[in-house]
Amino acid sequence: MAGIYLHIPFCKSKCAYCNFFSVVSEKQRIDFIEALKKEAIERKDYLGGEVVRTVYFGGGTPSLLKPSEIAGILEVLYKNYKIIENPEITLEANPDTVSRESLSEYKSLGVNRLSVGIQSFCDDDLQYLSRKHDSRHARQVLDWAQEVGFQEVTMDLIYGIPTLTDEKWHRNLETFFATGINHLSAYALTVEEKTTLGQRINKGVAAPVDEDAMIRQYQILVEMTENQGFEHYEISNFARPGHYSKHNTIYWKGEKYLGLGPSAHSFDGVSRQWNVASVKDYCESYSFEREELTLNDRYNEYIMTSLRTMWGVDLEHIRKEFGENYSERFKKAIKKYIFEGKIYQKDQKFVLNDDGMLFADGIAAELFI
Ligand code: SF4
Repeated sequence: MAGIYLHIPFCKSKCAYCNFFSVVSEKQRIDFIEALKKEAIERKDYLGGEVVRTVYFGGGTPSLLKPSEIAGILEVLYKNYKIIENPEITLEANPDTVSRESLSEYKSLGVNRLSVGIQSFCDDDLQYLSRKHDSRHARQVLDWAQEVGFQEVTMDLIYGIPTLTDEKWHRNLETFFATGINHLSAYALTVEEKTTLGQRINKGVAAPVDEDAMIRQYQILVEMTENQGFEHYEISNFARPGHYSKHNTIYWKGEKYLGLGPSAHSFDGVSRQWNVASVKDYCESYSFEREELTLNDRYNEYIMTSLRTMWGVDLEHIRKEFGENYSERFKKAIKKYIFEGKIYQKDQKFVLNDDGMLFADGIAAELFI
């Protein structure tokens, strides 16, 4: 089974830390929607007829699109792809761009999972990140989501923000648990040089990130979510059993996905391709870059993505998919991390423990071929 990702590139304003492709002007909104539908039709064979089980509207801010626009896009997908009955359809929403009515309309179109960009329930953190909403908006949108009947809701929170004390982080998590929501994506604040925040920190006008606080807050996160019965199923993702993101699991398990819209990435099992990151160019003519993956590339990707999850690296999968040489090499390389207590072995699976997850990228890089 496969998934479809749609990149909606518009945002009301640019958040200081944002490194995603998005634009503030909605001048080309109508052209963009037409180009997106055209791309969906032209690339209908990309997934090789595989059945689609997830559709994900990400961005940018998909909730800037009117329900009627989302309906038009879904109609094109249903006409051109084999989509299972009751697919997971996720829409990312920012609190300042929705109303109770718009949420209810999205739901009536078949959107059954709402991903809300809360980031923090404290106004000073939201100001540090230059988010447009405040904590009142954040609580309001979660109430509305539940009132209109969304069963699956997830929210994003960020830790490691210099204005976020450990006590406030505790309170943010308590507020999250009190909502009864079953899924949480919690990210460490990463500062990229080229972002507004990166420049502000370089100039000394914004406080820098404190790595020790980041690690402490990660530990608080792991402990509190575990106490509440959440599974830490991917480095940044926590869910009550059975409430995992089906769409993101497609990425982590190396299944096929089609990415539509500017800057969207696609994977067909043997190659990756990514669309031009410009709304203007995307609307004028569809263009992309493509990379054929070698066996080593595919092995490295498998290590990187599977190591991030609670399902871990499967030795049997390596043997079948890549051959005996790869599995022997992996067995040798992994010993060091088992000895250091960062990874544990369960049958044929090798899984990072909570502390090991802090070093996932570095460990994966050392396991690469
Ligand atoms: S709303 Fe999201 S995509 Fe848009 S600027 Fe902020 S972080 Fe970036």
